[in-house]
Amino acid sequence: MSELRKNKLTGEWVLYAENRQNRPYEFVKKMDYNTTEKKNCPFCRGNEHQTTLPVFQDRKENWSIRAFPNRFPAVAQKQEQTGEKEEFYESKPAVGRHEVVVDTPYHDQTIDAFSLEHLKNVLLTLQKRFLSMLEEENIQQVQIFKNAGADAGMSIKHSHWQLIGLPTVSKRQQEYEKTAKQYYDQTHKCIVCDMIAWEQQQKKRVCKQTEHFLAITPYASRFSYEVWVLPKSHMPSFAQAEQELFMELAGLLKELLCDITALRKDISYNICFMESGKQSCQQQMEAFHWMIQILPRIGGFAGFEFGTETYINSVSPETAAKWYQKREKQ
Ligand SMILES: [Zn+2]
Ligand SMILES: [Zn+2]
Repeated sequence: MSELRKNKLTGEWVLYAENRQNRPYEFVKKMDYNTTEKKNCPFCRGNEHQTTLPVFQDRKENWSIRAFPNRFPAVAQKQEQTGEKEEFYESKPAVGRHEVVVDTPYHDQTIDAFSLEHLKNVLLTLQKRFLSMLEEENIQQVQIFKNAGADAGMSIKHSHWQLIGLPTVSKRQQEYEKTAKQYYDQTHKCIVCDMIAWEQQQKKRVCKQTEHFLAITPYASRFSYEVWVLPKSHMPSFAQAEQELFMELAGLLKELLCDITALRKDISYNICFMESGKQSCQQQMEAFHWMIQILPRIGGFAGFEFGTETYINSVSPETAAKWYQKREKQ
């Protein structure tokens, strides 16, 4: 069953993907890097037959970036038989796309060790796959994300990204757009552009910056050392991001990820691209402003957070920013 069901009390969508129970999960007990066998890894060069057919491969032989549909997709490619509709509740068949982008042929290489040229090409590939998913009529939201490490939900210990295209718009996305629209109606300005201006003036949460990008620890960060990377000029979607800037973006991302991996041995983190929704972009609305959020998985996410959606963070964003600034000087 691949079905989206809406929580009637909160408006959140829940995705049911029962076929994912069969997927390999190396981290079921606790991450043990030594037991991961390269010969059984579907993402290693030489084991291509273990994945679905690629939708992108940078070279025929000796590839370094490879994208293919997930073998255990969270969404169905085409409409399947779904359960009986219940009038009281809202549901949707979860028809969409779920792709994997393997960003290195080497089993143990992590993103902080990539060359800038390679990381730039990874960003180009992500943008291509993103655009391809957005073109599909039934897809309303495409999420680009990376799970790095067991605490971040990584199931195969070989660096990769994922893109999931959904026929629904998440509650979080709707909130972003609603807030941005209300702000625009009141001020005729983009909420994120104003945030960037404020942070540049205050300086206390700026971690690093380049000519076109700013990295900040957000004012109300959920996780310790959480960082947002923002394009300085207004741009609603990663789909429109200029490829000439990807080398610069790769440099900034690499620096931040090197810093994060220096926090603790084997640290886990998630990377999420946040965006204006497809609909508001198409309607040329003064939408949101795209960004990359990096979430180091330090500390728990437990009963209190589940119950209240209030996060407890033991490192203030100002302290975290100082740490990033100091790393830059080293
Ligand atoms: Zn591998
Ligand atoms: Zn903006």
